[in-house]
Amino acid sequence: MYKRFFFLLLLLSPIFILAQKKTATSAAYTPTQPTLPKPLKQAKNVILLIGDGMGLTQISGALYSNGNKLNLERFPVAGLQKSYAANDLITDSAASATSFACGVKTNNGAIGMDRDSMPVPSILEEAEAKGLATGMVVTSTITHATPAAFIAHVKSRKSEEEIAEAFLKTEIDFFVGGGEKFFNQRTIDQRNLSDELTKKGYLVADFSKGNLTDLNPDPKQNFAYFSAAENPLPVSSGRTYLAPASKMAADFLKVHSDKGFFLMIEGSQIDWGGHGNNSDYIVSETIDFDKAIGLILDFAKADGETLVVVTADHETGGYALNPGSEFGKMTAGFTTAGHSAQLIPVFAYGPGSELFYGTYENTDIYWRMRKALGFENK
Ligand code: MG
Ligand code: ZN
Repeated sequence: MYKRFFFLLLLLSPIFILAQKKTATSAAYTPTQPTLPKPLKQAKNVILLIGDGMGLTQISGALYSNGNKLNLERFPVAGLQKSYAANDLITDSAASATSFACGVKTNNGAIGMDRDSMPVPSILEEAEAKGLATGMVVTSTITHATPAAFIAHVKSRKSEEEIAEAFLKTEIDFFVGGGEKFFNQRTIDQRNLSDELTKKGYLVADFSKGNLTDLNPDPKQNFAYFSAAENPLPVSSGRTYLAPASKMAADFLKVHSDKGFFLMIEGSQIDWGGHGNNSDYIVSETIDFDKAIGLILDFAKADGETLVVVTADHETGGYALNPGSEFGKMTAGFTTAGHSAQLIPVFAYGPGSELFYGTYENTDIYWRMRKALGFENK
C-alpha cells in the first residue's frame, strides 16, 4: 500500500514540477500603465541614454577610475528600476530595451513585440507619427538589440538584416552606428538599403569616406552615418565618436522639427566588457559614455525644455570591486559571464525629471517619458 502510494507520487511528480514552473514564470508581476501625476513642466524633447550592462558597480568602477568624478553626479534625481523579462528574472538587452521603448515586459530575444509576439508601437515611432524629430546614436551595430527595439518588430534579435529594413519603414531623422553590412551586403535578398535610404532623401555617409566629426549635416535633410561595417571598435582601440555624435544629434534634431524630438543614445559596449569579465573594458566604455552624458546635460541645461534620462538595461558580469581596490586601480571580481538580476539605477534631469524618483518597473521608464512629453493615454 505504502509502496503503491509512493509510485503514484512518482507518476504525478512531473505534473507538480510543471505546475511549479508555470507559477515561477507567471508569478512575475505584469506591469500595466501606472497612474502618474502631471509633470511640473512638460518636456518638449526627451533624450534617453542607455548604458548597456551598466549596473551600479560599473558606475562605481568608472567613478573611482576617473578621479572620483562623473557627469552622472550632476543629476538631481535618481531612482531604481526592476529589469526582469517576462520569461526570465535575468533579462537580455532585447527584452529590456522593448520595455523602455514600448512599455511591455516581453521574452528574452524579442524586439518591439509583447510576450505573445504581437508588435507594440515604440515611443520613437509614436514621436515620429506626432511630428517630433527622432534619432539614435550607438556604439554597436545600429541593428543591435537595444536600438532595434525602438524601431523594429521581430521575434529574434538575431535577425539583423530584417531589423535593418525597419529603418526604411519609420522615418527616423538621424542615426549613427555600425552594421552597415546589414544594409548593403545582404544575404537574405539583393536589396541595398543604403541606396534606398539615399533615394528616400537621406544623406548617407560612412567610415570609409571620413570621420563623422568632419561632416556637418544639414538639419533639413535626414542623416545616416555608418561607423563600421560590423561592430564599431572599443574606445580603447581608438573609437572616438560617441560624445561628439551625441551632441551633433541633439543639435541636429532641435533644428529638424519645431515640435520637439526623441533621441536614444547607447553606450553599447559596457556590456561587452562585462561579458569578457574585463574591468578595464567596462571602465573605459563607462567613462566614454559619461562624456556623452556630460555634453547632453550641457545641451539640456542651455535648452531648458529637454528631459534627460540615463539608465541601463541590466547589469553584466556580476561585477564587484573587491578588497584591494584603490582610486584609479580596481581589483575586480565577477560572478558570471552573463547578465545579473540587480536593480538598475535611473538618473533624470530637466522638465518631468521628478517623475523618476522611486523604485519601479523598467516598463515605467516608457510611461514616464510619455507623460513628460504630454503624450495622451495609449
Ligand atoms: Mg545594447
Ligand atoms: Zn549582454
